[in-house]
Amino acid sequence: QSKAKGGRQPVVFSSTMREAAQKRLRLETELARAIEQDQFEIHYQPVWRLDNEHLVGFEALVRWQHPRKGLQLPGKFIEVMEETRQILELDRLVLQKACHQFAKWHEKYPRMARLSVSVNLSSEWFSRQNSLDVINSILRESGLTPEALRLEITERSLLGQHEQASVVLKQIRRLGVRLAMDDFGTGYSSLNYLHRLPLDIVKIDRSFTSQVHTEQRARDVVLAIVHLANALNMKVNAEGIDDIRQIEVLREMGCHFGQGFQLGHPIPAVDVPNYIAGKNTKH
Ligand code: C2E
Ligand code: MG
Ligand code: MG
Ligand code: MG
Repeated sequence: QSKAKGGRQPVVFSSTMREAAQKRLRLETELARAIEQDQFEIHYQPVWRLDNEHLVGFEALVRWQHPRKGLQLPGKFIEVMEETRQILELDRLVLQKACHQFAKWHEKYPRMARLSVSVNLSSEWFSRQNSLDVINSILRESGLTPEALRLEITERSLLGQHEQASVVLKQIRRLGVRLAMDDFGTGYSSLNYLHRLPLDIVKIDRSFTSQVHTEQRARDVVLAIVHLANALNMKVNAEGIDDIRQIEVLREMGCHFGQGFQLGHPIPAVDVPNYIAGKNTKH
């Protein structure tokens, strides 16, 4: 019926939509194959203590080694995988790889013995019944000491399910695993529930970190987060440090940990032992 009068626009629109839908379907299929064929790998970004500049561990960041397009960043596929719930499988794979890699490195390299590994978990994990069992069995299979594992969750993931999430988080925490709130300050009603969750670390989002050396307001926010964290017995990790001036400001404000391009880019897993050998104490 749209052909009768100025029907051109709807036709173009629908063919664009069809193209988008086909592209999306192709991506979903490719991602399913990527899981099957083990095309995902982990890059690790170093995390530092800001006061004494000691390396404390790494954050595991997933990468997709696409057979034709090469290395793909999470921005290209995480959202789709969250919508299809493929993310549960991906996170499990990442958790498994990270735990096995670190258990092996702890054993093989004395200099790595005390380094922790942080793994990002999607919100889907908290509507999932057996997340505790999955984490527990991966820990046991890998032999990684639970205290070396940190799980990063986002405020978004807790939206509307604080109570349920808080029960699961407490059980996970009881295994000895540490918990971090990722991207803090970007979500909703953070202050409402922060004190009710068994968190060990609050990660200050890059949108604040990137302005601490230039904007008083960003400094005010960070300082407030540091005070709040201290009062709640939590540590603060500033993410996205990409300017040397930010390090000094953050250290003076009492921020405990930091990570970012200025302190170290994410590197492929195979390069980690060499990285450690060269840079165990200073960045
Ligand atoms: P995130 O957990 O907040 O990770 C930090 C992101 O910021 C990473 O991007 C990292 O490469 C980037 N970054 C680190 N330092 C700097 C800096 O100084 N400047 C700038 N501009 N960026 C910096 P990446 O690896 O692309 O990951 C993006 C997001 O994807 C992560 O944000 C996390 O939410 C998600 N993600 C990554 N791996 C996984 C995973 O295995 N599972 C799940 N569910 N999500 C993941
Ligand atoms: Mg993270
Ligand atoms: Mg983050
Ligand atoms: Mg972030």
